Amino acid sequence: MALSEFELIREYFRQSGARRDDVRLGVGDDCALLRVPEGMELAVSIDTLVAGVHFFANCDPGDLGYKALAVNLSDLAAMGAAPAWVTLALVLPESNSEWLEAFSRGFFELAAVHGVQLVGGDTTRGPLTITVQAHGFVEPGKALRRDAAQAGDLIYVTGSLGDAGLALKALRGEYAVGAGLEAIRLRLDRPQPRLAEGRVASGLARAGIDLSDGLISDLGHICAASGVGARLFLERIPLSPIVRHYLAETADWAVPLASGDDYELCLTVPQARQERFEQQMAAQALSVHLIGVIESQPGLRCQLPDNRLLEPLPGGYEHFHHE
Ligand code: ADP
Ligand code: MG
Repeated sequence: MALSEFELIREYFRQSGARRDDVRLGVGDDCALLRVPEGMELAVSIDTLVAGVHFFANCDPGDLGYKALAVNLSDLAAMGAAPAWVTLALVLPESNSEWLEAFSRGFFELAAVHGVQLVGGDTTRGPLTITVQAHGFVEPGKALRRDAAQAGDLIYVTGSLGDAGLALKALRGEYAVGAGLEAIRLRLDRPQPRLAEGRVASGLARAGIDLSDGLISDLGHICAASGVGARLFLERIPLSPIVRHYLAETADWAVPLASGDDYELCLTVPQARQERFEQQMAAQALSVHLIGVIESQPGLRCQLPDNRLLEPLPGGYEHFHHE
């Protein structure tokens, strides 16, 4: 890419989101110089979004900038980490200033909300691909690992499930949601990383994961890594009115249980800490819902209100058993 194009691109990423004291040197040199606070562990996560694979090349660039950051911050949330710094690698087919302007606006809008600073990156020409690496801090021993769940732990999820999946269905023309589409479309395009929930959970919950592939699949990762199983009480799954209506019409549990992109957190909490966990979430007006329990028997059992089990499990079932 010509130097002038680099200059143009750098212009959009010279702003940095938040300005943090722990950044000694940010964008502009060969490396950033960063200071991890005394006594904290560094949590690091990276995700790549490829046009045509993870998003449509013609999608709204502002939403794309927002979501590229959101999915990475969600990984920090799932670890119980507080976000600090991000780097951004862009592969662009051309330097389109209108596109870059919108992309960076979406990206920095979310960065500012969570006090995250962009400290470096890379820019090259090629098929549209966006890689974000996120860095955060967590107290030693307090990270929410996938392999830490124990039989008897209570299973919680944040927010509500299935909105993003239903939005995708509606956008594909597979279901008509009518006036509610705008609200659930926002959940798909601009998911809110549950960072506050993750911070409260760190030190109280045992295991945690963010729901990128759907509850069945992602809870399956916790169960597989921890060598346990789980029982879910389906009437307790938090649903927005629009998903509740969809379920009443179709009985299609795949939407709340097996569609991805919700980016809510799934957490397992020892029973002895239930009260403290719920109180501390409520004190910050954070929404968490008790949906099930970890069991020693492997596999996932989804219990319907009449105590029958939902069988076969939708969508992510294979995933659950083979990964
Ligand atoms: P180098 O050849 O040393 O890698 P670059 O020209 O790639 O230098 O980058 C120069 C500076 O601009 C570096 O500090 C780099 O981190 C930053 N940078 C380049 N692209 C981006 C980007 N997309 N977002 C943020 N910072 C970037
Ligand atoms: Mg470089």
